[in-house]
Amino acid sequence: MAKLSPINKTDFPMWQGADAVPDAVYLDSAATAQKPQAVIDALVHYYTRQNANVHRGVYTLAEQATEAYENARQTVADFIHAEDTANIIFTRGTTESLNWIAQSWGGTYIQAGDEIIITIMEHHSNLVPWQQLALRTGAKLRYVDIDDQGLLDMTAYRAMLSARTKIVAVTQVSNVLGTINPIQEIGQLAHAAGAILVVDGAQSAPHMPVDVQALGADFFAFSGHKMLGPTGIGVLYGKMALLEAMPPIEFGGEMISKVEKFQTTWADIPWRFEGGTPNIAGAIGLAAAIRYLQAIGLDKIRDHERALTAYALDQLKAIPGLIIYGPQDAAQRGGVIAFTLNGVHPHDLATVLDTQQVAVRAGHHCAQPLMQRLGVVATARASFYLYNGQADVDRLVAAVNEAKEFFQ
Ligand code: PLP
Repeated sequence: MAKLSPINKTDFPMWQGADAVPDAVYLDSAATAQKPQAVIDALVHYYTRQNANVHRGVYTLAEQATEAYENARQTVADFIHAEDTANIIFTRGTTESLNWIAQSWGGTYIQAGDEIIITIMEHHSNLVPWQQLALRTGAKLRYVDIDDQGLLDMTAYRAMLSARTKIVAVTQVSNVLGTINPIQEIGQLAHAAGAILVVDGAQSAPHMPVDVQALGADFFAFSGHKMLGPTGIGVLYGKMALLEAMPPIEFGGEMISKVEKFQTTWADIPWRFEGGTPNIAGAIGLAAAIRYLQAIGLDKIRDHERALTAYALDQLKAIPGLIIYGPQDAAQRGGVIAFTLNGVHPHDLATVLDTQQVAVRAGHHCAQPLMQRLGVVATARASFYLYNGQADVDRLVAAVNEAKEFFQ
């Protein structure tokens, strides 16, 4: 097999320059991604040449800042194939996006006796908001299970859906198992039952082409920092009819059309959901990240990660005592591999890997109910992006073998 090189590593200052650590192996992109120079440049450009508040000033600089911010919204809308820029609300990240749906849409339309269906593989961000909504309203929270491969039990899904189901919330890609879920099919089932489909795109939008309309998503949430963009910026996509039916969540400047002493009319969508000065630099940085990803091509990124994951699965499987969670077939998973090594706590394993300059995550990955389901307290997790190559996987495997010797 020809050596799989990174798609691009030279654009990332993490590995360039006098004080860089060129040998550092970064395998924690599922937590947050490294940033290319283009994103850093976009942030610097905004702060040095365009810095002004948006939607307020009539002077040129303010108009430029507003234009850059609203162009970023257009870039996001195009990226996920939204109907319009009005469907794109800037948030702090996936967590905030999902919380807003639960609070605003959920808080308005969910009642005692309704059912919310999620899955056992959800990140806490797509679990706790629904759990709390259910506790507040008396609705019932139900979990779809997984099979031995870490694939969703679609028979259970079908059986669980009913006229009582109001919300179906599911991740497109699991941040632990790597499983790519059949969102279109789940959406069709949810809609046939009269429910809305909420998709957690935190681990999909950075790594594969996403078309929210083709997926049938009513809401779709993702984070900028996992896709080469800055922290503190994320996206909530919503279908217009749902956004129109949603009360705003935060009140204050920017989100109003007219304020009188005892009543207020809201600004148009999407601005009515963006109270206060938004993360202008974050949105501009996110747009730069999207342009960077688009210039490479999301198909190419997906193919690269799939090949790298297939290679890593083969190599890791050959280590005695190493258990891999999730589908065996790289075609069914994103570039995330959670694993444990018999007799070694994942934290100890990650600490030893760190001595070899191999950065992996260890812990429950914000998915404690899934950990319980898998019968573990924690796992180690390696996750890939476009700057990783076969050499990184080889370093991981060598470091795991060394750790194995060290502990045994
Ligand atoms: N959903 C999934 C599947 C994730 O992997 C993550 C982050 O790890 C989140 C939601 C939360 O993202 P953020 O912390 O950026 O809000």
